[in-house]
Amino acid sequence: MSEKRKGAAAPVVSNFIRNIIDGDLASGKFAARGWGGKPGPAKSHANTPPDPAKIRTRFPPEPNGYLHFGHAKSICLNFGLAHDYAGACHMRFDDTNPEKEEQEYVDSIIQAVQWLGFDWRENIYFASDYFDFMYEAAQYLIAAGHAYVDQQSAEEMRKNRGTLTEPGKPGPWRDRPAAESLKLFGEMRGGVHADGSMVVRAKIDMASPNINLRDPAIYRIRKATHHRTRDKWCVYPMYAYAHPIEDALERITHSICTLEFEDQRPFYDWLLLRLAEGGLLDKPLPQQIEFARLNLTYVVLSKRKLIQLVNEKHVDGWDDPRLPTLVGARRRGYTAEGFRLFTERIGVSKADSWIDFSVLEDCMRENLNEAAPRRIAVLDPVKLIIDNYPAGQQEDCHAPNHPQKPDLGKRVVPLTRELWIEREDFVETPPKGYFRLFPGNNVRLRYGYVVKCLGCDRDTQGNVTAVHCEYLPDTKSGTPGADQVKVKGNIHWVSVAHACAAEVRLYDRLFRTPHPGAGERDFLLDLNPDSRKIITAQLEPALRDAKPQDRFQFERHGYFVADLRDSTPGVPKFNRAVTLRDSWQK
Ligand code: ATP
Ligand code: MG
Repeated sequence: MSEKRKGAAAPVVSNFIRNIIDGDLASGKFAARGWGGKPGPAKSHANTPPDPAKIRTRFPPEPNGYLHFGHAKSICLNFGLAHDYAGACHMRFDDTNPEKEEQEYVDSIIQAVQWLGFDWRENIYFASDYFDFMYEAAQYLIAAGHAYVDQQSAEEMRKNRGTLTEPGKPGPWRDRPAAESLKLFGEMRGGVHADGSMVVRAKIDMASPNINLRDPAIYRIRKATHHRTRDKWCVYPMYAYAHPIEDALERITHSICTLEFEDQRPFYDWLLLRLAEGGLLDKPLPQQIEFARLNLTYVVLSKRKLIQLVNEKHVDGWDDPRLPTLVGARRRGYTAEGFRLFTERIGVSKADSWIDFSVLEDCMRENLNEAAPRRIAVLDPVKLIIDNYPAGQQEDCHAPNHPQKPDLGKRVVPLTRELWIEREDFVETPPKGYFRLFPGNNVRLRYGYVVKCLGCDRDTQGNVTAVHCEYLPDTKSGTPGADQVKVKGNIHWVSVAHACAAEVRLYDRLFRTPHPGAGERDFLLDLNPDSRKIITAQLEPALRDAKPQDRFQFERHGYFVADLRDSTPGVPKFNRAVTLRDSWQK
């Protein structure tokens, strides 16, 4: 992804994770990692050449939903570090929960990460590929006295676990012989016992101040079909047990996760050390590092709430352009470069904080300003008639495709007697500081002539139906002496005879308050009723053949994208990604 990353280039700012990596590289902590070709389950990596990757990180989603803007931070962070340190970043599906996971989610996650511009090369893994190893590792732990089969009910287990202030109590099965636990574990696997009737628990310390160390469950019975291993297993590893093993088998060096896993780190380390002692894993072992998750105002980033918005049809589906999913962002016209810029700009830290949505929007504007060609669209059209311009006559005006990139050239926009202009560009009685069309005022038709406003026609209700003007023939843009007549107003326009009428969706923020559902409030009450307005706009002819996903700046309006699903060349439909300026600052 080196090519694409250049676009978002900002000088690399150090952070606590980079400091840890710098320290590890300086001390050679991970230099001795063996390399057995493709990383993966292997009993020993001794006597193999060193891993060519200086560091290994991973992005480990559970395939149980669509990725959102928070995941984008994690993706950019993990792949970005691997890139900057000549390492590798693994794409890993943490699929240990058969009931909730689906191939559809796997596919959408793959597409989203690729869309963000990242490449895992050969490093794509599934936790389910390690189920054999995980099962053997649990057998080992039982045999070594580090785990046991517990037959207490869920209720009893909960009671005996204790609380934050009270220690837990050992259950009746804690000291049963290893042979008995091994036999039961075999029966669990064989489908002899019912879901929930028993679990395998690590044997650590029921009195530990850290509840995660009070004999956490590591294996449970689930008679469910898995999206990849089908019906091979009816016992599944718990996330807290599976994740460290996945990291170790793949020889991850820095396992970066969000802060809520901080209390799990002692178990992460305990487990890997026990397995290394038993010769099942090689040192050096991976190191877990926690960072503060992304909290963004005006959206929700909880999978549960996103699912609710989709299921209850508050939005049109996972890729609704208003949703903070990556499939939604793509349809909205947000860019991968914008997300990478955003991740660099907000940085990483250990302290929880909120990022204002405008920071993300600014990053999108910044990238789109650079990347998007300019076009003209009239969103709220009213006719402007140039009374002294012959009907049937037509001439070419030349509009630059990008004001900062003259090499992108100019395109022709045809001028005729009747034009579409914005309704708000004319008033009969101008307020102070209004420099656009009002009777007697001169205004430049951008890339065309200066016109003098003469007045307007109205219907019986008093609505303006057409504005009249006359043009000053010696003032055409780009001709000598064009700016002899000074004007303060400059408006955009599209020839009525050439315009392409098209559907445009004006998207805005999905929620109208910065913290939807704050306190005990139902977050649905904070939905913004004006988050989508559908209009028919008049577009300049060059926009007629836009291809899905083509992005443009509509001059004076904002950045727009031809919709990925609904737009076709000939019949374009545009989505507004972001306005030119922030209208949400009070
Ligand atoms: P859940 O575990 O509740 O299903 P999740 O949002 O944690 O939801 P995962 O699929 O486990 O989803 O997340 C994959 C990775 O993305 C994890 O490493 C997780 O820490 C990270 N991640 C998730 N949400 C955020 C966020 N808001 N900011 C930064 N990273 C996040
Ligand atoms: Mg998670």
